[in-house]
Amino acid sequence: MLCTSKEMLDKAARGGYAVPAINTQGGTYDIIRAICMSAERMQSPIILAHYMATGQFSGDDWFVETAKWCAERVSVPVAIHLDHCEDFATCVRQMHTGFTSIMYDGSALPMLENAKRTEEVVRACHACGIPVEAEIGTLEKRDADGNLLVKSTAADPEEVREFLKLCHPDSLAVGIGNAHGFYTEKPKIQLEILDQIREFTDIPLVLHGGTGLDDDIVKQAISRGIAKFNVATQIRHAHIQYLKQGIEEKRAGADNGHAWKLSEWVCGKLADDVDKIIELAGSAGKA
Ligand code: 13P
Repeated sequence: MLCTSKEMLDKAARGGYAVPAINTQGGTYDIIRAICMSAERMQSPIILAHYMATGQFSGDDWFVETAKWCAERVSVPVAIHLDHCEDFATCVRQMHTGFTSIMYDGSALPMLENAKRTEEVVRACHACGIPVEAEIGTLEKRDADGNLLVKSTAADPEEVREFLKLCHPDSLAVGIGNAHGFYTEKPKIQLEILDQIREFTDIPLVLHGGTGLDDDIVKQAISRGIAKFNVATQIRHAHIQYLKQGIEEKRAGADNGHAWKLSEWVCGKLADDVDKIIELAGSAGKA
């Protein structure tokens, strides 16, 4: 059931669990289908996420149409989310493509400029009933080849307080020492920042960089107000690993040229992985 991320995240924030947002790597059908399959059998709300960079091959609109097709075939709430969009025009254009949740990421800008630009996106998206996620505090970012683009800086709670006076997003990603991609060393996750932010706002908070975080840290973060839990790298790599395994082990007709049977088998393996993410986020049975 296609919906926006607004109601599901407000409900998660009140209920003390998080909704998983899983990146589909440019609309890869096996991944989208596996996420929806898992969400349905776990009865969990779910977010299908998309980076602009990964839409280069199949097209952002192809991703949206495929995601909608899958969303409409399950009974649980499914939002289609644009992740880390850094400019107003793209946010607005993609809202019209059919995304039902938009992230404007101005975290690399000074706080005042971030707030000003976030509010512009919020006004445009809210006019069409689409919720917006903002970000404050930067997360380490790397390009597709693993080169460092942006270093992590944890959010300053006082700046977050000012930020939320100046703009009105529906959810907020905060840098707390987390990073995208595989962690190269054990991250120092500053959970106390979440407590400090919780003292003045109940906005649903978002934890990026889910791959490789200890389960215990994730659970503690959720108990401190994280209502959306993002995972990308883990599922992207698992997809390739299962494809390789399927071909090597001659599974599901792989040696007979039946790519769809291989996809079906890979999809089942990925859905089992998504079940574990849903369990960790605590969203099973919350649809
Ligand atoms: P990972 O790739 O580290 O799982 O992070 C995902 C993410 O935060 C997407 O916005």
